[in-house]
Amino acid sequence: MAYQVLLFYKYVTIEDPETVKDWVKTRASELSLTGRVLVAEEGINGTLAGTYENTDMFARELLADPRFADIQVKTSGSEFDPFPKLSVKVRNEIVGTRFPKEVVDPRKRTAPHLPPEELRAWYEQNKDFVVVDMRNDYEFRSGHFKGSINPELENSRDLPEALRKLEPLKDKTVLTVCTGGVRCEKMSAFLLSEGFKDVYQLDNGIHGYMEKYPGKDYLGTLYTFDKRLTMDFGGEREIVGTCYKCGEKTEQYVNCADNSCHLHFLICGACKKDDGTYCSDACEAHVRESVHA
Ligand SMILES: [Zn+2]
Ligand SMILES: [Zn+2]
Repeated sequence: MAYQVLLFYKYVTIEDPETVKDWVKTRASELSLTGRVLVAEEGINGTLAGTYENTDMFARELLADPRFADIQVKTSGSEFDPFPKLSVKVRNEIVGTRFPKEVVDPRKRTAPHLPPEELRAWYEQNKDFVVVDMRNDYEFRSGHFKGSINPELENSRDLPEALRKLEPLKDKTVLTVCTGGVRCEKMSAFLLSEGFKDVYQLDNGIHGYMEKYPGKDYLGTLYTFDKRLTMDFGGEREIVGTCYKCGEKTEQYVNCADNSCHLHFLICGACKKDDGTYCSDACEAHVRESVHA
């Protein structure tokens, strides 16, 4: 593949987020990288793409900073440049949850990390545990761990509202998962703060697991927040995504052509329309009316 995509995060106190942002922006630009990086007082979270040589160089330089030395940078390939541009920003949080910092701060307290090897063993031993998928609902649709629970989050901010659905799991062994692990640091910490007794988070997320065990236990594809939309690491897999309209198996995403809706959903080849696909008759009517108005 022509491009390599880096995925990295760390919760660590950054006293000077602006300085780190400026460095990332400068170096990534010089190396012609694209992607998105967030820097906050609580840490760094990013995904960058470029040639193998340049992304490797960036990763080496990032890890040369003692604050980031133990980051486990995850990598994947892409046939094309998956990002339209480079965006590096300072934010209040590196994952937008709006949990109060007194309650949820992964630098102080978070659930223990479960290595992929352990999860594989749990599956093999038929251990009594539950996987809770902390990604957004639409990400879950194209692929997920077998038997996992989908709290149907529209956004990482929704977890407190979804908590009622997870209440029955309070005394169970719960493993939270997300794409690369950054969301679970907060999500699992939140579950602990809510009195869940035995919570783990999957080390390096689904990405890390699929790299080690392609085609195992995780069904379908992994959603990505770039032009690839989904990816895998080889291995046999079944398609678990189903068309929002007709239920046919599919892994193709589309946005509702009604810009005021913009729902992100799975669509099959037969239901996809070249002149714009709508999630509902209401959205289609909405656009048709405004055209004629
Ligand atoms: Zn369809
Ligand atoms: Zn719509």
